[in-house]
Amino acid sequence: MYDYLIVGAGLFGSVFAYEAKKRGKKCLVIDKRDHIGGNIYTEEIEGINVHKYGAHIFHTNNKKIWDYVNNFAEFNRYTNSPIANYKGELYNLPFNMNTFNKLWGVTTPAEAKQKIEEQKQASGINQPSNLEEQAISLVGTDIYEKLIKGYTEKQWGRSAKELPSFIIKRLPVRFTYDNNYFNDRYQGIPVGGYNVIIEKMLEGTDVRLNVDFFKEREALESLAKKVVFTGMIDQYYDYQYGVLEYRSLQFETKVIKDTDNFQGNAVVNYTDKETPYTRVIEHKHFEFGTQDSTVITEEYPMEWKPGDEPYYPINDEKNNGVYKKYKDLADNETKVIFGGRLATYKYYDMHQVIGAALVTIDKEFTE
Ligand code: FAD
Ligand code: UDP
Repeated sequence: MYDYLIVGAGLFGSVFAYEAKKRGKKCLVIDKRDHIGGNIYTEEIEGINVHKYGAHIFHTNNKKIWDYVNNFAEFNRYTNSPIANYKGELYNLPFNMNTFNKLWGVTTPAEAKQKIEEQKQASGINQPSNLEEQAISLVGTDIYEKLIKGYTEKQWGRSAKELPSFIIKRLPVRFTYDNNYFNDRYQGIPVGGYNVIIEKMLEGTDVRLNVDFFKEREALESLAKKVVFTGMIDQYYDYQYGVLEYRSLQFETKVIKDTDNFQGNAVVNYTDKETPYTRVIEHKHFEFGTQDSTVITEEYPMEWKPGDEPYYPINDEKNNGVYKKYKDLADNETKVIFGGRLATYKYYDMHQVIGAALVTIDKEFTE
């Protein structure tokens, strides 16, 4: 008999397992995939740690969370500075003085601000109510047209007018010549890949892979006093209030033997609407790799349908409304804990998942 059956060996499930074990509890972790780590899993190809489920850069402003992950791995000094490729024109991201200079020839912050203000005024937007209006208010119409609209509409499969503003606020806008994609104080990639962290977290805990909770639900539930569920919450409740929508992705990974440097940067975004992928990742650059060959991954956004991998929750009003109904059910459970990106239907980054798992642990062990 286990104290907890943890459904999902991703970051949330692994933090929970580690902390519960530390408190003398016995956990069984299951995952339907054939590996641990969930979406932060890396696979070694040609001596390079390949981010199997898209580029993962750890960043946080929270010292407690930074210190926490540093207990499990050493982090390198990688700073994410993606390049945007718009029909062969290259721009620095996030939107900063280098971007404004390349686009408009402006050299001072005052000139850049004036340019944005003129474009914002011309658009007549006062109270931005969707992603398009929010983007134009922040950076003007030129940047919106070249660097945001095409990428966003490919990524989400919807008009930018139908998307919530918060998505674009993930990206900094700054009036300094600084290409750091994040404002957070701490950032890096774990030396040896993210698997090092998950392996340490799950050390000494029973793990069963290739096990789908829904295929043997009753037998699995009978093994433990409580369940920690990190899969899709709508599936847990048999879709009784309807299906939550997600955005899915397809990853095309290629080994390139005849060059050691394909694109000169870890992340290049293709911001036009015609290129079918959103970004190309060259994995070795996350760890300053010196291998003779290189591995790249093209990321193709896809419409999600039941059975596909659900990567991004679509937090528009309709889906948030459906989620709220499931959450009301979840709040009344006494033997099931819901956590992570899928079970709480939140566009969480890794540091937020760790933070949420630690809060859940505190709550579980102080009540
Ligand atoms: P997951 O990693 O999804 O783990 C859930 C696990 O549960 C999975 O392994 C799944 O197989 C398993 N599972 C689900 N249902 C069942 C079932 N029925 N039975 C058994 N097992 C089940 N964050 C950052 O901080 N920085 C980044 O740069 C970054 N980039 C990202 C890029 C992409 C393309 C994506 C999709 C996400 C990115 N993230 C990034 C977010 C990060 O991946 C998540 O915050 C984190 O991995 C979520 O952990 P989790 O445990 O909640 O979920
Ligand atoms: N975005 C964009 N152009 C870019 C990069 C991002 O318009 O070159 C927008 C897009 O809507 C995207 C959002 O900003 O979904 C958040 O970007 P982020 O890089 O945080 O996305 P993630 O890494 O989570 O996919």
